[in-house]
Amino acid sequence: MVKQTIKIFCRVKPTKGKTGLYEVDEDDSGLPKLSFFVPKDQSQIVNNTKEEYNFRFQRVFEQQTKQEEVFEHVAQPVIDNAISGYNGTIFAYGQTGSGKTFTITGGAERYADRGIIPRTLSYLFEYYEKHPEFTYTTHVSYLEIYNENGYDLLDPKHEAAKLEDLPKVSLMEDTDQNIHLKNLSVHQAMNEEEALNLLFLGDTNRMIAETPMNQASTRSHCIFTIHLTAREPGSATIRRSKLHLVDLAGSERVGKTGVGGTLLAEAKYINLSLHYLEQVIVALSEKSRSHIPYRNSMMTSVLRDSLGGNCMTTMIATCSVEKKNVDESISTCRFAQRVALIKNDALLNEEVDPKLMVLRLKKEIVELKDQLSLATGEQPTDELSGEETDRLNQMVRGYVEDTDPDATLPVGADMRKINECFRIFKRLVLERHAGKHGGVSNGAVEEEEEPSVSEDSGLGSAPSTAGSAEVKKLKDLLQQRDNEINILVNMLKKEKKRAQDAALMLEERGIPFSTGEGTQPNGPGRPPSSRSKHRNREERSRESVSVSRSLSQPDSREKETTPPYSQSTTVRLRKIGGEMSVGRQEAFEIFKRDYEHSVTVDDQKGLLKQRYSEAKQLGEKVNSSRVQINHVKSLIQQHRMARAAQGISDDVGFSEEPDEEEQHLRQQMEDEKASYKVTFNRLRVLKTEIEHLQHLLEKARLQMQKDFELWWAEQTVNAHAPDPGPSHSHQGGSRRRHGSFTDNPAADGDSLRASHSYHGNLDAVGLGHHGDRRLSSHSDSSGSHGRVPRHREVLEDSRSAAPAIPLTGDARADADIMAFFKARQKILQQQGKR
Ligand code: ADP
Ligand code: MG
Repeated sequence: MVKQTIKIFCRVKPTKGKTGLYEVDEDDSGLPKLSFFVPKDQSQIVNNTKEEYNFRFQRVFEQQTKQEEVFEHVAQPVIDNAISGYNGTIFAYGQTGSGKTFTITGGAERYADRGIIPRTLSYLFEYYEKHPEFTYTTHVSYLEIYNENGYDLLDPKHEAAKLEDLPKVSLMEDTDQNIHLKNLSVHQAMNEEEALNLLFLGDTNRMIAETPMNQASTRSHCIFTIHLTAREPGSATIRRSKLHLVDLAGSERVGKTGVGGTLLAEAKYINLSLHYLEQVIVALSEKSRSHIPYRNSMMTSVLRDSLGGNCMTTMIATCSVEKKNVDESISTCRFAQRVALIKNDALLNEEVDPKLMVLRLKKEIVELKDQLSLATGEQPTDELSGEETDRLNQMVRGYVEDTDPDATLPVGADMRKINECFRIFKRLVLERHAGKHGGVSNGAVEEEEEPSVSEDSGLGSAPSTAGSAEVKKLKDLLQQRDNEINILVNMLKKEKKRAQDAALMLEERGIPFSTGEGTQPNGPGRPPSSRSKHRNREERSRESVSVSRSLSQPDSREKETTPPYSQSTTVRLRKIGGEMSVGRQEAFEIFKRDYEHSVTVDDQKGLLKQRYSEAKQLGEKVNSSRVQINHVKSLIQQHRMARAAQGISDDVGFSEEPDEEEQHLRQQMEDEKASYKVTFNRLRVLKTEIEHLQHLLEKARLQMQKDFELWWAEQTVNAHAPDPGPSHSHQGGSRRRHGSFTDNPAADGDSLRASHSYHGNLDAVGLGHHGDRRLSSHSDSSGSHGRVPRHREVLEDSRSAAPAIPLTGDARADADIMAFFKARQKILQQQGKR
């Protein structure tokens, strides 16, 4: 057991804005210190006194720290432990916009910005490759918790357009008070590519499911879990562990005082479950508390083991040091200091797979039986022969009659014989008993008591050959194994019964029972999470069954667990809002061109293209290396044959020693092989990067589509309203947007600016023809949420005057047409103004 406190790290988000005063003091002998300096009272300008807030962390990652470094210090130790069989959790905590998602999942633009999850997956599969002495399995699940509801982000069957479309995950408690997540699918990943595809699928679903109404990325928690098992071939011991990578909801409070630097005591959390998280942390950090209120929220229930349980836990506090965010950052750091007080007891999750053990013992018994029959020359049978029973009878009777207190009954270690002896004893006792009471003759016993054969001629001294000791040893061993098997078989029966009882109980309560196998066709057949200190036995046995099945039927298992989307989720483009009408399509095309992020997308496309051609070149190089290696190989063979032939004709024989030319060829082959290996590895790395870039592009495309839908919906509303004029549209839009961001303080600067420019530009978004417009070089430093059309200059549309509007009679299509013409008209009006 490893007892340790939760490790806390701090990461400071890079900022261009005005920063508050802060300092990182690394000189300290112990842990680095992060300090914030807040003016005491701003109304007294002359009074320069500052309040100082100090916090200690394991490490503070300053603004420019690379993802790689964060991974190395925060994640790598946790993963190494997970591989060794200890549960691990890494969670990011901080206000919205402070970089939680950036840290856990990664940035949206660059491959180098990939976060802890994709790096963990790469690290794991690389590790497996380097350690072939173990067999590893990897399964993943991805859960989103929003408003106390759990959603499965990895459901391949659902084309989710909103969060509610995803399968709902619920908590279930068994009789041992272990909590299970019902309906959360768990998927096996056979390699890095499959694992990444699962991550991408979950991320895409996460994004699609978010609407301006639910603000899921701010208010939900996402938990990516990797389930690991490690087994040494031939061993029945399995190590299993769970690794949770958690992106928590934004920690900002609704009521904040801001300027004064003091936080209101009554400040509320926007997210109730974060409030409960704090309660759990407080309870855990106070030694006297015996009740920890885990059950108050789904998130604390799911992370129960990570907080004060069987887990090695690490927290990364993400801070923004912009002046307006310093309050929140101080509150984040305070929370971290509390967390650092919590002690966890991580246990090595090692267990014996009983099924595997039975199989092994059975095999051993067969071998022992064979050895035994070889040693004795007898074929062991299940039944004792009549002759043997007779002999035992005589031995027992002789033993009973023997007056010598040191007399023994040497039947050996054969269980069949021992049992037979007991039967004889029982019979004797019963008979004597009956004789005493009922006067039944004990003649039978007397009769049989006539010893006709020497007692010792039986088992006691018969095998007086040299192998007798050996035989005895083998028999003892056989007996021991028989007992072990009996015990294990009984264990298995009990487990089965427990599972049935549990199912029955749940049915009685009217809860449909899910064994995981039946309800989750893509899962490996087990509920994914158990938060008890002691793993639930039912789950354990089920898991072990699936493990042994994977051993015996690797192919069928693979088929069963390979997700149907494993080719690549990155190529899936989902349609939001269904088919588009022609007008809408046209508007979309233009929206696309003016879209804020279109430059990034173009960059990414360019980079992707470049990577493709690099990959192509590398592929060609790999192929030509392969051809070259084969060529040199055949040259060596030919050369050797020629040398052999020469040797025969010269009658000097053939020397195995390579001659100079052969040595030269061999060297050439080695060089070629080395270069092949290098190129091949580069190609592999490149492949991962390409897939990642494809995923980022897909995400960008989805985001744009969503932003378009939003814009379009507003246009439709405006089209139906009496002409409000451009300013109305502006205000209406920004008010709505504003409403969705008010409780999002970290974002408000950027997003509001973004939303202003967004709505300000709505009127100007061009609906002309492709060739008609140009973008200016206006550079709008990309805000964290600023996904807005970057229209900077009104197009020069040569076409003028509105034609008669051709309506179709279909309400939806007409609304689209109207919106199109309305927008177009506005543009023309604006043009006219210039
Ligand atoms: P959160 O998940 O905490 O709400 P995000 O991770 O979405 O915040 O970060 C907000 C914005 O800031 C994103 O655009 C992200 O790319 C950017 N960002 C965050 N941290 C960093 C960092 N360390 N380096 C560069 N960009 C960052
Ligand atoms: Mg986030």
